[in-house]
Formats: sequence, C-alpha cells, structure tokens
Amino acid sequence: MGKSQSSLVNKWLSSKVDKPKPYQITRHPVGVNVPLSFRQERLWFLQQLYPSNPFYHYAEGFEFRGKLKIEYLITSLEAILKRHSILRASFHAIENQVIQIVEESSNFEITSHDLRSLSGDELDQSTEEIIIKETNKHFNLETAPLFRTSILQFGDEHHLVILTLHHLIMDKWSMRLLRDELSANYLRLSSNNPLQPDPLVIEYADYAYWQRNRDLNEKNVAYWKEKLKGVLTQLRLPLTYKRPANTTFRGGFSSQEISSAVYEAVNNICRDSHATPYVFFLTVYNIMLSRLCQDEDIIVGSPFTERNSTQLEDLIGFFDDTLVLRSDLSANPRFIDLLEQVKFNVLEGLEHRDIPFEYLVKSLKPDRVLNQNPLFQVMFIFHQEPTTPSFGDNLAMNKKILDIGVAKFDLTLYVELKNDAFTMLFEYSKDLFDENFIKRLHGYFNKLLDEIIADPEQHLSELKMLSTVEEEQILAHWSRNPVPLPGADSVCQMFEKMAVKNPDRPAVVYENTTLSYHDLNVKAQMVAKCLIQNGIKTNDFVGLCTNTSLELIVGIFGIMKSGAGYFPIEPDIPIERMKYVIQDADIKFVLSQIEHINCFEDIDVGTIPIEVIIEEDVQYKNIRPVEPNGGHRAYLIYTSGSTGQPKGIVVSHSNLVNSTLARSVFYPRRPKSFLLLSSFTFDSSVAGIFWTLTTGGKLVLPRRRSEQDTKLLGNLISEQGVTHTLLLPSLYEIFLQHIPQDKLETLNTVILAGESCSVSLCEKHFNILPEANLYNEYGPTEATVWSTAYKITPEGLAEKIPIGKPIANVEVYVLDKNLDPVPMGVTGELYLGGNGISEGYLNNHELSSEYFITNPYDHNRNTLLYRTGDLVSFRKDGNLIFHGRKDDQLKIRGHRVELEEIKTALKNYPHIQDVAIVVTRAHATDQNELTSIDRLYEALGSLEGDEGKESLLHSIENLSDTEVEILLAQMNGQLLNPIRPIES
Ligand code: AMP
Ligand code: MG
Repeated sequence: MGKSQSSLVNKWLSSKVDKPKPYQITRHPVGVNVPLSFRQERLWFLQQLYPSNPFYHYAEGFEFRGKLKIEYLITSLEAILKRHSILRASFHAIENQVIQIVEESSNFEITSHDLRSLSGDELDQSTEEIIIKETNKHFNLETAPLFRTSILQFGDEHHLVILTLHHLIMDKWSMRLLRDELSANYLRLSSNNPLQPDPLVIEYADYAYWQRNRDLNEKNVAYWKEKLKGVLTQLRLPLTYKRPANTTFRGGFSSQEISSAVYEAVNNICRDSHATPYVFFLTVYNIMLSRLCQDEDIIVGSPFTERNSTQLEDLIGFFDDTLVLRSDLSANPRFIDLLEQVKFNVLEGLEHRDIPFEYLVKSLKPDRVLNQNPLFQVMFIFHQEPTTPSFGDNLAMNKKILDIGVAKFDLTLYVELKNDAFTMLFEYSKDLFDENFIKRLHGYFNKLLDEIIADPEQHLSELKMLSTVEEEQILAHWSRNPVPLPGADSVCQMFEKMAVKNPDRPAVVYENTTLSYHDLNVKAQMVAKCLIQNGIKTNDFVGLCTNTSLELIVGIFGIMKSGAGYFPIEPDIPIERMKYVIQDADIKFVLSQIEHINCFEDIDVGTIPIEVIIEEDVQYKNIRPVEPNGGHRAYLIYTSGSTGQPKGIVVSHSNLVNSTLARSVFYPRRPKSFLLLSSFTFDSSVAGIFWTLTTGGKLVLPRRRSEQDTKLLGNLISEQGVTHTLLLPSLYEIFLQHIPQDKLETLNTVILAGESCSVSLCEKHFNILPEANLYNEYGPTEATVWSTAYKITPEGLAEKIPIGKPIANVEVYVLDKNLDPVPMGVTGELYLGGNGISEGYLNNHELSSEYFITNPYDHNRNTLLYRTGDLVSFRKDGNLIFHGRKDDQLKIRGHRVELEEIKTALKNYPHIQDVAIVVTRAHATDQNELTSIDRLYEALGSLEGDEGKESLLHSIENLSDTEVEILLAQMNGQLLNPIRPIES
C-alpha cells in the first residue's frame, strides 16, 4: 500500500468529526400544513418547469409466469396504499408554500391489455408502445394517488405487471419494501389468511415536517464549501448533439454484463485495498470521464438514502439525497491511489451528508445554467439487487428494468450486482448523445477495467482506454496523408520553369502596370545579383519593405534567388518594433522602396533602394543567381510572442515547396487569376503568391489599404477576371454584403482562412455565388501557411464548419497532456507534423524546444511535431473541428495577438503595477451559454420601468437555484425580446 493511501485512511480513522447521529423523529403536530421535504420540493419545482414531462416517473415491471390471481394482486396493492400514507399524498401550492395532503382513501388506476393474440415482432412492438404510453402518462400532482398499475397479458399464464409512480412519493429503497409487502400480502391471500398490516409509528409526512424544521449543522456546510470551492466547471463531455436550450429529458439506456473473470478480479482488488465495488467502479468511472472531458477535476453525483434511522427503514417515500463527489485526477496518481482517494471522499462525504442537496446549492451558488443540473451533470449508482421475493410455488416473479424513455441527467452509470455478476448500464440523454457514443462508452469502460485488472498499480497515464481499432483508425488513417509529389528544390525553380514556358504571360498586375513572367524573372535576377555583390549569403535573411506593388514580388523572388530568405517588414510599424525585429533577426540589409528608406535612418542596417536596382541596367560581372535547395531558408515571419516580444518563424524551401504543391493536390482548379488580399507580412500571402506564380497564373495586387474599398475591389475582380482569392471570413462577409453579385461572377474558388467561419457566412456564399467552390483552410505560420483544409458544401452545413483533414504530407495528432491520442469526438490539443513543420523560432532555442517536440509517432524519432495550442476534435468522418485556443492567444482581424505581449509592454510603464486585459467581442453572446442568473439579470434589465426592479435585483443573490429557474420560466416572454445588458 502506497504512502498516500495509508495516510488518507489514517486521517479518516482518526478524524474527530461527529458521525451523523441517528435521528429521533416524532409525529408532526396536528393541524399544521405539512411541507415538502427539500428533495420533494426540488422535484416539484422541476415538474412545474416541465409540466408534462415524465422525467420523474419511476416504473418497475414484474413478469409473472404461472397462475396469477389478479384480484389478490390488487387487494395486496390496496393494502400497501392503505398502510403507507405517502402513496395517497397529493401536492398543492398555497400562498407561498407547497404542501402535501394525504387523502383518506384513494383508488389507483388499473389498465389491462390483452396481448394473447400477438406474437414475435408484433408482440414486442406493442409491448414497448404500451410501456411507454402507460409509464409516461401524465400525473396530476394535485390528485392522489401518483401511482398506477398496468397489466399486460401475454398468455394464460404469462403476465407483465407494471407499477408506475411519481418520484415525489418513492425511491428505489421503497420499491424493495413495496415488493416485499406485495409478496407477503399475496402469500397470505393465497393461503386464505386475512391481511393484517402493522400500523407505522411515524410516516413520511412526519419526516418531511421534521426535516424542514430542524437546525442544520453549520460545520457540514463549511465542509462542503471547502470541498467544492473554486471553479466548478461543467463537465465537457463530447456531445453528439448541441445541448438544446430546453432539455427534453428524453433518454435511452444500454446495458452490458461484465464477464465473470472481471468480477473475480474486481473483488480481489477490492479485498486487497479494503474498498467496496461501489468505490472501485466509481473510480473507474472518474477515469473514463476525465479522459472524455480532458479535465482532472471531476464531479459526479451519487445518490444515498437518508434513512439514517431504523425508524425510517420501513417507510416508503422519497428519502434519496445526492452526494457530490469531487475527485482530483491531477498529478497522475496510480490507480490504487486514486481508489484510496475516492474511498476517502465517499467516507468523508457520508459523514457530512447531513445537508440536503438543495440547501447545498443555495449556499454554494455555483454558476447556474437553465438547461444543466447544478453542481454535477453525471450520476453514478451502484445497486445490489436484493433477492426476488416469493409469490408461491406456482408463480414465478421476475423483476424487469423498463426503459421508459427518460434520462434525468446527461449520463448515469448504474452498476448492478446480482447473483455474483456485475451489469453496467448507461442511462443517457438523447438530447446529447447517440447510441454509437454509448456503445463506445461500454468499450472504453471495459478496456479500462482490463488494464486496471492487469496491474492496478499503474499510473493513470499508463492505462489505455482506446480499442486497437479506434487507435488504428485515428493514428493510421485520420492523422496522415502521404502523397508523392513531383520533385522540386524550391519555388524559384518552379517559377523559372513557368517563365521559360510562358515568357509573355502576365505574372503580376498592379494598377495599370503588368510584369510578364519573363520580365519578373529578369528583374528578380538583377536584385539577386546586387544582393550577392553586397555580400549576402545563402541562409541570410534580407529585409523587404515595400507597399503592395510590382517591386514587392520582384523583391521576394530576387532575395530568394540570392540564396537568402526574405523577411517582410510592414512600412509603418512602430519604430521600436522595427528596431527590435531587425536586431533580433540580425538583418544586414533591407531592400526598400525609396519612399520608405527614411524609416531605417535610426536603425543600424543597410538599405538598398529596389527601384534603383531594377531600373538601372548594371552589369554584375561573374555573379550568378543561387539555386536554393530544400534545406535553405525561404522566409522569416514574425508573430506575437507570449514572452512579451515577437518571435521569428523560419520557413525552409522544402516547407514552402510542399505547402505550394499540396495546393495542386487539394484544389481542383488552379488559379488563373488570383487576387492577393493578405499583407505580405502574413504568411497567408504566401499561398497566393507561390501557388499562382508556379502554375502560370496571374497575381492581381490591389492598392495598399484598399481591403475595405469594396467598390474598387469589385471592379478589380471583374476587370481582371479573378478566379481565386483567399481571405479572412470577416472580410468575406463585407465582400458579400457590399460588392454587387455581377462583379463577383468570375470567382470559382473562395478560400476562407485564419479564423473560424460561421455557418451563416457560408449560407450567404451559396446564395450569392452558388457556382463558386468554398473552402476552409487552417494552419499556423509555424507549419507553413496551411495544414488542413475542408471543402464546404451547402448540404454539409453542420453546426460547426470543420477545418478538414491533413493536406498532402502533413500529419495531425489530437493529443492529451501525456501525448496520447484522445478518443474520437473528444477535444485535445492539435499537434502538427510532416513536411510543413518549420525549423523553429529564429535564435530562440528555448522557445523552439518548448513548441517543437520530438514526434513520438515517428518510429525513427527524427522528425518534429509543432504544438499549436489549438483545441480540436475528430468528427466521426475524420474531419477536424476547431474549438478555440488553449491559451490567451487571439486573432484580431487576422493578426495573432498574445495577450502576454500586450501585458508586458504595458507593465514597462513605471506607474503601471499590473495589467488585466478584457476582450470584448462585437457580436452578441450566445444566449445558451449564459448562466441562469445572467439571463435573469438581463431579463430584468430589459423590463420597462424601474418599479420594483431595484429590489428584485438585490434579492436575486438570495434566490435558490430552483427559484431562479422558476422566475426565468415566468419571464420567458421577456427573454425572447431583444435584451440589452445591464450596466453595473
Ligand atoms: P497564423 O500563424 O497567424 O496563421 O495563425 C494561426 C492560428 O490562427 C491558428 O493556430 C488558429 O488559432 C487560427 N486559425 C487559422 N486558421 C483557422 C481556421 N480556419 N479556423 C479557425 N482558426 C484558425
Ligand atoms: Mg496563417
């Protein structure tokens, strides 16, 4: 036994906490209104919110084989109703209170269904329909009893008797009492003895009255406050469907028996570690949830009965409460250590259980969301099935679990122990999950069990959960995309081939000027020679500072042909930043347009006026342009750095060649005329420049700063017959809104990149330009422009537009923090590998080794993976879905911004001690993601007139969860109206 284990146990054994004392409950005073117990009240509120929903119905089926005397059965049930007054209770809202009233006598509904003429599928289907109909039938809470019986007759000696009850009057324990009393009564009647039920000393009403009038132990409240402090995050299970704003509580269930070998092994582990199977399975459940949510702080609800006194043991009624069990799976414990922790939590939780869940929610005030259960969303129930009571020698009874089509929580795992075997059963919300997901859950759970049984001393990170098939699917099929590409050393080589083939074709167009392929090649050579003469060598970087212009493209190819990589510098960036990057990159020369040369006056760097070189016909003797090879550096692009300074990303020619050639593999149409909309300081410009100029197309450059001039751009597109463009979704939004459709008609390929794109934008595209293909491209600069891509189709507009699959020779891995693949649908961090991965950050080995790691999936271990910080998941067709960032990195109009960089810059001012950055978004918040209290504030804020509003606002804080929900429901009409936020 490990050290942490024994110390936890000792801690518990020696704990001085008062163990909950058995209660002494007496009869409630005569003539008072009997309140609802806390749990009953919550249920009652929930039922008011969803008036006709059967989610709190409970049904059990008794299958009888043999000679069933229906009249004995009915008489027996009537006697039970007579003995337990709670079964005759109805519920009423009077003034400010909800009370329960017990009727003297009440007749329960009995329906009979004769199915003797049916067989096979027909019988199964009718049975299923009757079960759903009978068990879902509405109970009017004001009319007792909340109890009904349905009798299905399959044969002369084959019946199914269904009892349906509302949870307000029962719990699982009650059902055992009911079954036992039913059998005792039935046996007495069968042997002609009269029924003589013992009267009960106290009843449920006495308990409810007592519970609502007693003082709660504040020490227990303090315990839970401490235990549940901090952010109580909602579990982020990988949902199949988006959580609806209004839960329907439609549910399904799926069960599987656990093998006898596992049964033995589990019992052995439990024996060795002094844990119960309850604790064991709860621990395994925690591990599975942790993997599915990629979270280490896991909260599970688990019911316990409040019958902490022999007085209550024989009472039917709703005594269940919920233990909120929080486990800490961080620090990669061994399984047996986690088992110990869970055991300790359960024991300690039970010691402090004397606080009704309702009360707990009220005092803890967790974030409340209308469509989610507060504090926990998943349940765990361990159930030991008692022996089936006897109904005499001629009648066998078999208890049946009925699927009544509801689920109260997102997911509930039941483990049932019956006749030396475990059965696991998942009850799941059909709003959130489909059957396939639940099937996979069974697989994950079984796999974890196998791994744990093999060696319970393993650390959590060593336990596998994925099946070999799923792992193979992910790693071998979805992660890679090897495609043999034609050999090329560099994009220069590819461009030169085009220049030889089509010398007179227009290569670049800017305003009224055009450069042909031949002229571009010649001018680029002149630049290269000049640079070489100035001492530029292979793998140096040369700064390039120009407006969007023909010189820009000449400069890029010129620098590359000198063997150096180009380093784009935006002319009007702040001088400090300009100084920093030039120094950091150790730049010796900047090739600049004349108008920008003075930017560099105060900087220690040489400048070369590009116009002068390409106009003057200087003869460079004995200087030949360099043919770069794949290993040479092609460009350097700076991007925001979280350390407070921007960082330079070095991209090689082989990175660039793969990135460029992959376009011809993925895109069916090559760019005849490409409109370049990204600044050349962004790597997205690389896409258009090299794809176009290596395939013989025409690159169309708009005037600088004309991105928002939609009239100019519209004319340019139609005049230049633009077929392709790549742009930010937000910019495309403006295009579609402001450029007349007829100006856009030549476009056949629109590529959205750099940020998530919305479904509504895609819809607009397909309405306006149904003939043009639309794509979503994803990729960080570190992996050379693009890594995955997706063709968007009007039919496939799901809730989130995928970022697609890996492009040629790129690898994508969705990993957890142990670098293991996460299951399909689960969100993990995206790691990129393959030919696009750059060599790292310039002159920053430390930062490079933080983000570029040895590829654990490369058998030779000699390639790198880039850790993107992007959160993604695999959709079931292998397409990736983007879920945002792991860190504070933002995109502001396409610019990558690390909040740390801003913070560090601001902190440099002497009077600023600390900095907090609040990011506000222009678009409205998604209503579904607001907590109920937010929604309530908003709803109140939108009310007309101030009367009473002030005091309402003040009292919100003191409302219980259900009260908030009720208020919200009442104000629903208001919520549907436009909401304006309240200024605080
Ligand atoms: P950059 O290196 O400037 O190209 O920025 C790369 C980052 O932009 C990625 O790591 C993502 O966070 C984000 N990004 C790029 N393309 C997309 C896209 N199609 N959808 C969502 N986010 C994107
Ligand atoms: Mg980019």
